[in-house]
Amino acid sequence: MEWQRNIKTLTEDEIKAWLREVDEKPFRAEQIQKWLFCQQVKSFDEMLNISPALREKLAKQFELRSLKEDQHMVSVDGTVKWLFETWDGHHIETVMIPANGRFSVCVSTQVGCAMNCAFCRTAKMGFFRNLEAGEILEEIINVNWYLKENNIFNEEGQIAQVTNIIFMGMGEPLNNLENVHRVCCTLHNQKLFNMGSKRMTVSTSGVVPRIKELVDRNTPCCLAISLNSTNNEYRSSVMPVNNIWPIEKLLEGVDEYIRRTDNYVTFEFVLIQGITCTPKAAKELIRICAPRRVKVNAIILNDGDDPNLHAPTPDEVDTFLAAVRAAQIQITIRTARGRDILAACGQLAHKKKNDQGVFERGSSLPDATPRQS
Ligand code: SAH
Repeated sequence: MEWQRNIKTLTEDEIKAWLREVDEKPFRAEQIQKWLFCQQVKSFDEMLNISPALREKLAKQFELRSLKEDQHMVSVDGTVKWLFETWDGHHIETVMIPANGRFSVCVSTQVGCAMNCAFCRTAKMGFFRNLEAGEILEEIINVNWYLKENNIFNEEGQIAQVTNIIFMGMGEPLNNLENVHRVCCTLHNQKLFNMGSKRMTVSTSGVVPRIKELVDRNTPCCLAISLNSTNNEYRSSVMPVNNIWPIEKLLEGVDEYIRRTDNYVTFEFVLIQGITCTPKAAKELIRICAPRRVKVNAIILNDGDDPNLHAPTPDEVDTFLAAVRAAQIQITIRTARGRDILAACGQLAHKKKNDQGVFERGSSLPDATPRQS
């Protein structure tokens, strides 16, 4: 299959520029985007107020559906995981988590990931390529189609729609910032998805210069940081990104972000038995959080492929949470959703069909580390 630019990647201005090139009226751009993102059509032919001639030009030039659903799996807790095939034969995963009236979608931003974190399954795939903005938006639109086709209702009794986006699927979103920025702007656009910036959370393993860039660009989103450990030696051993930007540098980036945006930052903190879920680790976490406008989102380690890393016992988790709460730090525990379908944090990774458990493998740090500024 040949690559055709995904129409959903384009901004309104870019569609206008193309329309001028093909002798069409620029005001059509707004209509086209409404069909794409409000009506969420499945083909150009459904764009009823667009002339057949223009629809034909669009279809010749652009892809409207580039992700093919390979399969989806529904968990006993209502979480759904999709496996999509990209136009060039890669596979990505998307997860929808219904909870407390919200329908959150955890989107992938890259095919694989170059960050090589020890506890994460996606890391084992290596890195293949960035996803286009249109592909990421398609992940979300596919979930809306599913909600509609399966008559899933929200609390108001209407057909449910995706309410929140978390950029926590496969990949490092800040290494694909240009496209993640485009996605956030399209979601935030009042004429299109009209999603508030507090409903979108971009999560990073700690690509510090890109945190600053996120603020410079004024990307409409919140920020989460996968802190996971407060100890440089340990963090570097499980998250190679820490060798480039150690905790002090990461915290400088976080402080600048908070100062310039006045937003809270969420620290994600994976609880690993005997390592990050200890009284000492709790104390260290308190020291880092106390002076900052941050919240902590603790995640119990999900089974990865490292035999040395184990989840803590419920008692150990309770002790950890109680210690952090006693210091007035806001900490929530993220319950693992979709465990039965391998949809929980850190478990997204595609194995090639018919293989013997061997991951399709791309490259990993440091050669695939995108440009550092
Ligand atoms: N690359 C981005 C987003 C993807 S990872 C980032 O690092 O933030 C999303 C979250 O899942 C991160 O907080 C990561 O630390 C966590 N995670 C990865 N593997 C995990 C595992 N095996 N168990 C629990 N959480 C995990």
